Amino acid sequence: MNHAHSQALFARAQARIPGGVNSPVRAFRGVGGDPVFFREGSGAWLTDVDGNRYVDLVGSWGPLILGHAYPPIVEAIIDAARRGSSYGAPHAGEVEFAELICGTMPAVEMVRLVSSGTEATVAAIRVARGFTGREHILKFEGCFHGAGDPFLVKAGSGVETLGLPDSPGVPAALAKLTLTAPFNDLAAVERIFAEKGKDIACAIIEPVVGNMGVLVPRPGYLEGLQALCQKHGVLLVLDEVMTGFRLARGGAQELYGLKPDLTTMAKVIGGGMPLGAYGGRADIMRKVAPAGPVYQSGTLSGNPVAVAAGLACLKALAAPGTYSRLEQVSRMLEEGFIAEAKAAGVPVTVNRVGSMLTVFFTAEPVFDYTSAKTSDTGRFGRFFHAMLDAGVYLPPSQYEAAFVSLAMGEAEVAHVLGAARKAFASLGQTG
Ligand SMILES: *Cc1c(COP(=O)(O)O)cnc(C)c1O
Repeated sequence: MNHAHSQALFARAQARIPGGVNSPVRAFRGVGGDPVFFREGSGAWLTDVDGNRYVDLVGSWGPLILGHAYPPIVEAIIDAARRGSSYGAPHAGEVEFAELICGTMPAVEMVRLVSSGTEATVAAIRVARGFTGREHILKFEGCFHGAGDPFLVKAGSGVETLGLPDSPGVPAALAKLTLTAPFNDLAAVERIFAEKGKDIACAIIEPVVGNMGVLVPRPGYLEGLQALCQKHGVLLVLDEVMTGFRLARGGAQELYGLKPDLTTMAKVIGGGMPLGAYGGRADIMRKVAPAGPVYQSGTLSGNPVAVAAGLACLKALAAPGTYSRLEQVSRMLEEGFIAEAKAAGVPVTVNRVGSMLTVFFTAEPVFDYTSAKTSDTGRFGRFFHAMLDAGVYLPPSQYEAAFVSLAMGEAEVAHVLGAARKAFASLGQTG
């Protein structure tokens, strides 16, 4: 496969954009080699600047559940843009959008629109802190909640240890307020709440983790976390930026029967445009300015073009059979990956919930940060490049979820699994 134009663009990009990309994981650091630059997406397919075509299993990292350039979304964007790209004032679309979200997720009684998932999570914990008057938060190892300071934190040694910054630029004093616990371990949460529960404003979690590769919550884990939160007056913030309107119309909270205090969303709800949201209990959301004292704002929040794209996306997803069709295609891929790996003698563990899927290169079960780290990332890198050469664009990191879209049909599944057969076979030979 020829990548001459991508390589030339990457050389120019590196001179003017840090690392040549506008978001780190795009740079292929997790798999080696240079990133591919794209010129077009249509349905399940991407075309790069050298004319190579790929079945896309990234879907812009989650938003593109309907595939690229889905006609009703394109029409909605054009139509909205013709009426002005931003007003900096209220408009009818925001009200319709808020009603649609609240009507779909019963735990979300009021909602505020923002422009990204990061904005949503940062705002949600500010609101949780403002509402409870507590300063600590609890997050879970391997869960990602965007690039906000409070989330770029890892535990020191042992779960009871206060957080240490993961990135220069995050003040140690702030990181100390972020406690961490392993995912899928309720006893750890119990210990932390017993000791520090009265200081903890909220626990924030990805209900199904996508950002450590896919981690599946053990039966009863999320329900148990919710009960522990209630017992200690800790607000439960369900970060559904990835899972909202993807795992089910009502997100993971519908799938697992949860009633979080606050929910964060982005990705699918924007239909590919920059749009995020946070919402939840009305008594909590009434603390948000100007209804209440907790400040949060955004010049482009509720942007009419983004809202139009989001509305078109969410309305399309309301069609009967949507999620069962997505499940069917996703299951074919899961079963196919398992069968092809087995045929080639490559040990893998495939984790999948709905249309989120990860092939881990380990024979061990993967259910938390530590077990995910048993994966052979070098092997994943070779697999990734073999898939790329065969026309499949996977997330360029072992620790990211692949996303299935409704644009994928049997032809695309066959294309992906044909590529996987070759890719696994090549690993069998090279180790
Ligand atoms: C992507 C993601 C975010 C961050 O969203 P951005 O729009 O990239 O800021 C937050 N939480 C989760 C669970 C995500 O997957």
